[in-house]
Amino acid sequence: MIIVTRPHVTDPELDAIREVVERAGLQTHLSRGEHRTIVGCIGDERMLAEVGLSTLPGVESVIPVLKPYRQVAREFRADPTVVVVGEGEGASIGGNQLAVIAGPCSVEGREMLFSAAASVRAAGATLLRGGAFKPRSSPYAFRGLGEEALALLAEVRAVSGLPVVTEVMDTRQVEIVAEHADMLQIGARNMQNFPLLSAVGDLRRPVLLKRGLSATVEELLLAAEYILARGNDQVVLCERGIRTFKTATRNTLDVSAVPVLKRETHLPVIVDPSHAGGKSWLVAPLSFAAVAAGADGLIIEVHPKPSEARSDAEQSVAPGEFGDLMSRLRAFAGAAGRTMSAIPDNVPVDPGSGAGG
Ligand code: PEP
Ligand code: MN
Repeated sequence: MIIVTRPHVTDPELDAIREVVERAGLQTHLSRGEHRTIVGCIGDERMLAEVGLSTLPGVESVIPVLKPYRQVAREFRADPTVVVVGEGEGASIGGNQLAVIAGPCSVEGREMLFSAAASVRAAGATLLRGGAFKPRSSPYAFRGLGEEALALLAEVRAVSGLPVVTEVMDTRQVEIVAEHADMLQIGARNMQNFPLLSAVGDLRRPVLLKRGLSATVEELLLAAEYILARGNDQVVLCERGIRTFKTATRNTLDVSAVPVLKRETHLPVIVDPSHAGGKSWLVAPLSFAAVAAGADGLIIEVHPKPSEARSDAEQSVAPGEFGDLMSRLRAFAGAAGRTMSAIPDNVPVDPGSGAGG
């Protein structure tokens, strides 16, 4: 930490500043300029976190040197984290492969869920998404089938072999969601729901943490730090677009957040082109951009009949479009030095069976 003093700081003021720093267990080093003096603080600056240094007489500014996050920082781990979702070999996110999570915005019933699972699996997705508890702007909108949807997700996992990802919105739902899902999603609106972050931090189950609508990269990393601080290091970060002045797209995909995050953290980083663009025709170009920027994966909304979707119809792609996207994605993945993640051969279950209820 570096303390910059006001011009003409007095010696008693300097002594008082040094005393406060040294009482916290750090050493000080003075650098006297013509007008100002810089106080360098040597030691663990986190010891000064609760000390109101900027309120001391003679202090102009306090500049931290260390990042506020610890366990999510790149330096904390020798290698990038690979998150394994699901039983057995599971589906990996992170490392050299590109993972694709796909499925409907909401679980609307058995037939559509099984059909979506079959088509995304056939196209090469390795994880299935589907919302049971939906955060909706309007209380009158479809808010998901809740526990009924959780049971369907567990059922479709058993027949498709695809691990399932679903959102948890409230600490009271954590237990039941964790009983059914392989990966728990914390949505954009809950990125700073600190009790919820701590609750999923107490689980030993992977978490997909989405960036808040107006969250900075640092705030996203600190939200992840809440989860790691409780002992759960199976966290995947997701850039899903942020609010800007632009109205042409639902949100603005912050492509640059991907390389910035990859530089700052060892955690895998994926992109949600569906919620970023808000239009089905934007999903492919935004996916390609994400891969070019270094994303470890994508989460894409796919609906058997997008026009009938009860949430996010406009941005949902049809199975055929998703298949085309996946074929084209291979080339982009190759250009980015990655291979597409695939389902292990020992999961030969026919995802079509069980459909039709
Ligand atoms: C979703 O994944 O369907 C969703 C609601 O995402 P977000 O929290 O990013 O808006
Ligand atoms: Mn959605």
